[in-house]
Amino acid sequence: RITETQWIWRDGHFIPWADATIHVLSHSVQFGSSAFEGIRAYSTPKGPAIFRLREHLERLLHSCKIYRMDVPYTLDELFEASREVVARNGVESCYLRPMVVRGYGTAGMVPIGAPVETYLPCWPWGAYLGDEALDAGVDACISSWQRVQPNTIPAMAKIAGNYLSGQLIKMEAIANGYAEGIALSPSGVVSEGSGQNVFMVSKGTIITTPLDGSILGGITRHTIMQLAADAGIPVRELHIPREMLYMADEVFFTGTAAELTPVRSIDRITIGAGRVGPITKQLQTEYLGIAKGQLEDRHGWLTHCR
Ligand code: PMP
Repeated sequence: RITETQWIWRDGHFIPWADATIHVLSHSVQFGSSAFEGIRAYSTPKGPAIFRLREHLERLLHSCKIYRMDVPYTLDELFEASREVVARNGVESCYLRPMVVRGYGTAGMVPIGAPVETYLPCWPWGAYLGDEALDAGVDACISSWQRVQPNTIPAMAKIAGNYLSGQLIKMEAIANGYAEGIALSPSGVVSEGSGQNVFMVSKGTIITTPLDGSILGGITRHTIMQLAADAGIPVRELHIPREMLYMADEVFFTGTAAELTPVRSIDRITIGAGRVGPITKQLQTEYLGIAKGQLEDRHGWLTHCR
């Protein structure tokens, strides 16, 4: 369940949480056309800090651009509004969910005539795959659902409708006793989780899926690739056949919600030693250390809110 906060920013104003409602016939409700983001603010010794806010807002505006949604705000305006909504709600750490919605006003599928509305809610949210997952890892499966073909529904846009695929993957995984599913791409190689990118480690090299039109360009993915490069760990972007995951020394998920979650088994096949591996642990410690203000923010990834 969502833990409510007091205020939501909507189109330049702060409105009470309960007032952020839209009509059932809003375009986005009927046709899945809202663009959104998922961003975390962490508690740091200097108060709450939003992790990689600028990159998330850039991706939001790119998603809108792909879908020809005219957002009447600049990145800088959304940046300040995001800082303010965290500060005003008095939360130490939270999840921010910016949403650009096509509202009420058109009967048909073509959105001409439907207004574009922008919302910035935030609320406290703990570990996405459970508190234990970050330490112990999760059991995942290869999903029977594949991702969409490139040039059908664009995977690089973070749009509500894309998450029909994620929901099928996640519900199937849970129904079969797994924490998460890994989808294959239309060509049958590894794509991504329901809301995470996938990484593997083999003989000291980190391997992840390229931006091939079947995955979201994850900001945590970029963070981990940067941290690995900083640490002198080789990183390669390669198409990964599913059996390479079974053969890997380590596998992990990355995502704003999932953070860096180790995967200890896939399809009941143990990965490596079946517990968090050394490179996974090193990168997780570094990533969360920077996000929580315990390690130096050498890439300028943190935005303090007050
Ligand atoms: N893939 C999908 C489908 C996602 O929903 C997410 C979460 N936004 C990710 C990957 C990871 O992206 P990020 O690291 O930017 O949160």
